[in-house]
Amino acid sequence: MKNRIRSNKEEKLIRIEKELLDFISNVAKNTYPNEFAAFLREDKDIISEIVLSPFSIFGRNSSTISNFSLPIDPTIIGSVHSHPGRNGHPSESDLIFFSRYGKVHIIVRYPFELEDYFFYSREGENLNYEVI
Ligand SMILES: [Zn+2]
Repeated sequence: MKNRIRSNKEEKLIRIEKELLDFISNVAKNTYPNEFAAFLREDKDIISEIVLSPFSIFGRNSSTISNFSLPIDPTIIGSVHSHPGRNGHPSESDLIFFSRYGKVHIIVRYPFELEDYFFYSREGENLNYEVI
């Protein structure tokens, strides 16, 4: 359903818990029409938790996560943020942030259902993922 990974740098298939996606959807819905952003935590190669930061809720005019304070936690592997519109593509500032930090970045677009999730590498390429 997603494009195949084309670089060999990120060969490992991303795995994420269905429960976590449901949780993210709820947070995104509750935050709408504002954006929310959080970090992703991986446990045994499965993304199983999000970590909200004090900067997790953004005003609707601030569609960037580049001002995030970066965690030093090594279990943090990337980020997730919501787009209040139907566009699931990373913005220019999203791409700059992706390239600086982490290896998996999720964008979930309105209305935040399971088919509204997009996974990106730090280069901004679509990543395959598996919901478990
Ligand atoms: Zn964005």
